[in-house]
Amino acid sequence: MILQQRAYQIETIQALLDYWRDGGGNPLVDLATGTGKSVCIAGLIDEVLAEYPDMRVLSLVHTRELVDQNVKALLRVRPSASIGINAAGLGRRDTRQQILFASIQSVYREDAYSLGPRDLVLIDEAHLLPKKGEGMYRTLIEKLRERVPDLRVAGFTATPYRLADGRLDEGEGRIFDRIVYTYGIGDAVADGWLAPLVSKATLTGMDVSGVTRRGGEFVEADLQRAVDREDVTEGACDEIVAMAGHRRSWLAFCAGVEHAFHVRDALRRRGISCETITGETPTSERDGIIRRFREGRIRCLTNAMVLTTGFDVIHVDLIAMLRPTLSTGLYIQKCGRGTRPVYPPGFDPNSATPEERVAAIAASSKPNCLVLDFAGNVVRHGPVDAIATAAAPGARRAAKAVDPAVKVDTVRAKACPHCRTLVDVGVFACTAPGCGFEWERPRPAHEAQADAESIIMTGQRSAAPALKDPWSPVTGVNFERHQKRGDPNAPPTMRVDYACGFIGHSEWVCFEHAGLARIKAEKWWRDMRGKAPAPATVDEAVARCRDGEVGTPSDIVARKEGQYTRVVGRRFSEDELARVRAYAPVPVVEQESAEWWRVLGIASSTHRDEVKTAWRQLVRQHHPDAGGSLVAMQNINRAYHEALEAVG
Ligand SMILES: [Zn+2]
Repeated sequence: MILQQRAYQIETIQALLDYWRDGGGNPLVDLATGTGKSVCIAGLIDEVLAEYPDMRVLSLVHTRELVDQNVKALLRVRPSASIGINAAGLGRRDTRQQILFASIQSVYREDAYSLGPRDLVLIDEAHLLPKKGEGMYRTLIEKLRERVPDLRVAGFTATPYRLADGRLDEGEGRIFDRIVYTYGIGDAVADGWLAPLVSKATLTGMDVSGVTRRGGEFVEADLQRAVDREDVTEGACDEIVAMAGHRRSWLAFCAGVEHAFHVRDALRRRGISCETITGETPTSERDGIIRRFREGRIRCLTNAMVLTTGFDVIHVDLIAMLRPTLSTGLYIQKCGRGTRPVYPPGFDPNSATPEERVAAIAASSKPNCLVLDFAGNVVRHGPVDAIATAAAPGARRAAKAVDPAVKVDTVRAKACPHCRTLVDVGVFACTAPGCGFEWERPRPAHEAQADAESIIMTGQRSAAPALKDPWSPVTGVNFERHQKRGDPNAPPTMRVDYACGFIGHSEWVCFEHAGLARIKAEKWWRDMRGKAPAPATVDEAVARCRDGEVGTPSDIVARKEGQYTRVVGRRFSEDELARVRAYAPVPVVEQESAEWWRVLGIASSTHRDEVKTAWRQLVRQHHPDAGGSLVAMQNINRAYHEALEAVG
């Protein structure tokens, strides 16, 4: 059985392969929690083995669940693959298979020979590495490199930050060179693969001004002392219950074990079924609690630091943040617990369009997950998703380098005075559906633009590679049909020329190609703010672009790739976005510049009879006597005469 790959999964695999083909070393990909890293890993192994059948792969994972997921995903694409498992916790100590899934703790002490030569090492959930853990990986990789000097390492992560200190692709002794592909929560929400998060400011707050900090994060014991106060807990629990409405499954992140029990007791006093999971909870009890939570029989789980990763209950639709954090990675991890979508029964997301998926989620039993931010995390770090999708003008802009940790008093979000929704500081219209509140804009406007770019996640797919690239202002855009010279049978493409002062950049969009090229064309169309459905043909695309359906970027980022440049980022002025949103095309029958076959709605290679039939139908539809427009009638007749001349 072929494993169905989503567009971004195909792009992930391509980005890794392209990087290696260009001589790159050890790449990292950043895929939001819940977007299917195991599918990407399986797909990558499959592609690599197709090209190099003797390649030997070692895949390092942390938990039993991950071993299981990864093996299953790979067996679906390569049922006959030679797969081994090496994990003490599972009682399996395989070493010789061509593809070996291993837990790092079980294998890092092995010498260079016992695991056989390995050409490719994959690291799943690479962000979980504490500094010490990273040492285990380095030790093992160095030993394996003694045998295979050309060994490559690829990492998969949901946040490219270590939990406490720094980015995974930066710093002394780093394992990874750079991020080659990013698909963040914002991207996945926009594409309907994840449910959106809405965050609300709360009346109850926490004072962390006196809490000691070490290594960019609050010191645990000190933090718990500061926030585990009865008045705060009581106030927070009142608010949780009041704001929850019918929400089904709540997750509360607390500052320590004691705190987690106090919050549990306060919720129980309010009639909420609530349990606590700590690092000490015995496995069988923990499994039982999680099972009952999954089934909806327990409404709330409180915990300190144990449910931040690897915990996956799709129904979570309320997250109470009661644990302040300065760690960007930890913040993103916590938010990631609430983004799994619950599609309506019978809905198949894989055969739906992004718009259909987004609509299905909106109509589902979990249209979003509510984040109640008692801890000031959203304010400090900024909203983790929807900004890029719902409201922000110029949303798909490139991300600035994001700090692995924020300051205590960093402010990246503000609360709407009407509905308390937390929105990015750079956004001036409330993002909550139906609210409509607008902030007064500061002047001059370009300062606001600068603020807007400080948001934590922008949903820009090529965020990482674009970090250092400057924006070039666009002075003009032109769209042309392009036929490859010397290859008349190749499908045509649409050539897009951007003029940036004296410099020009071009891209070719492949609406008539199959596979990945078509997927990229559809993505291009969405990025340019074209309306769905994307054009089926190049002629249609050129016509719709020239008619003004897509936005003209105010700036682009063009990156050099070999002898070409590639446009990797676009942003639009607010006026342009407003224009595109309001765009209503002139019906093709009224377009006096439209080719006759488009007006008549038939193929250009046709015959007289079809022309006449099409014309008669249009006349019946558009005759002024039948309420049609005179302009349309004249244009239909113009097209009819041109058609008769053309088909002879
Ligand atoms: Zn509002």
